[in-house]
Amino acid sequence: MIPAKTQPTNDEAWRDELRDVITDVDDLLTVLALTRDDVELTSSREFPLRVPRSFVGRMRRGDPQDPLLRQVLPLRAEDDETPDFVLDPLEEADAIAARGVLQKYQGRVLIIATGACAVHCRYCFRRHFPYDAHRQGSRFPGIDVIADDPSISEVILSGGDPLVLTDAHLERLIERIQAIPHVKRLRLHTRVPVVIPSRATETLARIFDATRLSVVVVLHTNHSNEIDANVAQRLKILGTVPLFNQSVLLRGINDDAKALIDLSETLFEARIIPYYLHLPDRVAGAAHFDVPVERAIALHREISAALPGYLVPRLVRETPGADGKSPVSI
Ligand SMILES: *Cc1c(COP(=O)(O)O)cnc(C)c1O
Ligand code: SF4
Repeated sequence: MIPAKTQPTNDEAWRDELRDVITDVDDLLTVLALTRDDVELTSSREFPLRVPRSFVGRMRRGDPQDPLLRQVLPLRAEDDETPDFVLDPLEEADAIAARGVLQKYQGRVLIIATGACAVHCRYCFRRHFPYDAHRQGSRFPGIDVIADDPSISEVILSGGDPLVLTDAHLERLIERIQAIPHVKRLRLHTRVPVVIPSRATETLARIFDATRLSVVVVLHTNHSNEIDANVAQRLKILGTVPLFNQSVLLRGINDDAKALIDLSETLFEARIIPYYLHLPDRVAGAAHFDVPVERAIALHREISAALPGYLVPRLVRETPGADGKSPVSI
C-alpha cells in the first residue's frame, strides 16, 4: 500500500496574511460589494479596523448585517455616550503583578505576550488596554514573578493574541516558562487560527509537542460561519492538543438560540469543545452589543434543553476584582 502523503504546509504563509490584513474601511466595503450608504461608520481612529482577508472571505457579500462583519466594522454606535460602559471594565489595572503579567486567578497567571491582534473585535474588553506599557520584549521580565510564586501551576498566554508572535519568539518564551519547575500547564487564548487558519502549522504543532508542559488552546469564535472546512482542516494539524472555545454573547450577532446551537455543533465537528459563553464586558464603545442578563439566561436555558451537556458552554461574566469568572445562574 502506498502511504498517504500528508499535504506539506507552508509554515510562513500566515505571516503574509497577517501583513495583508484589511485596515481600510472602503477596501472592506468594496470586497463585500457594499457602500458607505449601507452602514453608519464612526470617524474615530482610536481602535481602527483590522481584519484578515481569510475571515472576510467567510462574510456574505452584500449583507451589512453579516454576523462576521458586525464583529469588526467600526460603527457610529461606538461613539454613543454610555455612562455604565468604561475604559477598564474589569479593573485589570489592579491585577498587574509585573510588566505584562496579570494575576487575576488563583494558581494561574496571565502573560500579555504581545499587544497585537490579527483582528480588531469591536466588543473587545481590552480595546483601551495600555499595551505599550506592557510590552515584554525578548527578555520576558515578567517571568520572574512566576518563578517566585510556587502556587502558579498554569501560565496563560494572552494579549493581544499570542499566536501573532513568530514561532521562534514563541519557542523562546515557552522555554523560559517550562524552566520553572512548578508550572505544569501552558494555555493559549487565541483567535488567530480562526481568522487566519494558515497559522495552524506543523511547526506550531511541533512546538506544542516538544514542551514538557501540557498545552491547552482556547479559541475564540462567536458564530458558526467562522468555522468553515478549511479552519477545521487546519486545526487537525495541531494533533491532540485539547481545543476549547469561548464566545461572547453579542446582540445582533449570536443572540438567538439557533445561532448558539449551530455554533456549538459546528465547533464540535471541528473537535472544539464549547467552554464559555461570556456576557459582554461593559467596555466603552461596545454598549450596542449588550444583551440583558435575563435574555442571556433564557437563551442559555433554551440551548441547554436542545444540546447534549458537553456542547453547552458555561454562561459566565467577569466581575471586576473577582477571583475568576462568575457563573450566571439559572
Ligand atoms: C476566562 C479567562 C481566563 C481564565 O479562564 P479559566 O478557564 O476560568 O481559568 C484566562 N484568560 C482569558 C483571556 C479569559 O477570558
Ligand atoms: S482577538 Fe481577542 S484581544 Fe484581540 S481584539 Fe479580538 S477579542 Fe480583543
